[in-house]
Amino acid sequence: MTDRGIVSGAVVANLARATVRELPRYQPDEAVCGIDVSDNTNLWGAPPAALRALAEVGAAAARYPSLYGGVLARRVLDYLGLDERDATVVTGCGSDDVLDSIMRAFGEPGDAIAFSSPTFSMIATFARLNGLRATPVAYAGGWDVDTDRLLATNAKLLYLCAPNNPTATGVSRAAVERVLSQASGIVIIDEAYAEFASWSAVSLVPRHPNLIVTRTFSKAFGLAGLRVGYGVASATLAGLVERARGPYKVNAAAERAALAALSPGDDALGWVRRHADLARATRVRLVSELRTLGVAPLPSDANFVFVPVKDAPALGRRLQGRGVLVRTHSGLSVDQPELAASNGEAIRIGVGPWETMSRVLDALRSELRP
Ligand SMILES: *Cc1c(COP(=O)(O)O)cnc(C)c1O
Repeated sequence: MTDRGIVSGAVVANLARATVRELPRYQPDEAVCGIDVSDNTNLWGAPPAALRALAEVGAAAARYPSLYGGVLARRVLDYLGLDERDATVVTGCGSDDVLDSIMRAFGEPGDAIAFSSPTFSMIATFARLNGLRATPVAYAGGWDVDTDRLLATNAKLLYLCAPNNPTATGVSRAAVERVLSQASGIVIIDEAYAEFASWSAVSLVPRHPNLIVTRTFSKAFGLAGLRVGYGVASATLAGLVERARGPYKVNAAAERAALAALSPGDDALGWVRRHADLARATRVRLVSELRTLGVAPLPSDANFVFVPVKDAPALGRRLQGRGVLVRTHSGLSVDQPELAASNGEAIRIGVGPWETMSRVLDALRSELRP
């Protein structure tokens, strides 16, 4: 008898699906810096009420969480100002999980998912993993989505990120309404940054059974570490996504913290709203300071700003040397003049407390105006 089977590690790799074998790991820059504005989370922290709920999870950890997150789903519906008769919420382990589940629910291998590029990088990844054809199209002038181009793809799934990550730009209501009036498949609107934005498509859900709006507790709600997100859609659409997702996806601690964050009160939803307002005000100030450094951030509707600059990766490394971590982008589509001028490169800066912003600005000032 041998103590080994006949399958080697190399054979295991060959047994894997090609898409999985070839998929790179998600690689944000994980360098440890005193000032980290690289990931668009809430740099002010989390609502105190949510942190108290977390500290009290205790014995609940020994049991399974709720099957489909029903209580949380109802509270989210209240938060969105929708009625149970008009819309249904499906929760998930982060909105990533919801987005992935939408693709699993509706995408047969070979179906297309179309989106304006650049957008949230996980979309192309989930598309690949689900055997879908990722179909990027260019933006219209002024960074609105190009509805004709999107619709012309005839893709079964259309993905709009509003506001868009990484560009921070919004999508106009006219464009969304036009897409919804003509799309023949499923329309996904990713509103991860809705709390910072000038408008939301949530109120369109009751009139469009093929629309799902996804949101998250990871950004304005300050709970990125807990992984809670949701989608809101017609009962039919949400039910199908929930089937593809499966049970027990929101863990007990996350569920309690999210419920606490949604409760009324200065240390809960009040905290979230106050800090979203603060983020918007800080964003305006950050943008005007950045302009004095000779760079031109795109108009931001989110809690981060996107600054096209040449040689962004090198700039990012030099900023790291000064203890500041920003997100750098390169190889982005260059159909828009701002990105054509920067060779498809940019940095993305999360908005947070002004002390943090001034450290970022100091580092940038030293690097851009040597
Ligand atoms: C951060 C982000 C998400 C992911 O949110 P999670 O709920 O943490 O999975 C989804 N979409 C966009 C555009 C994001 O930037």
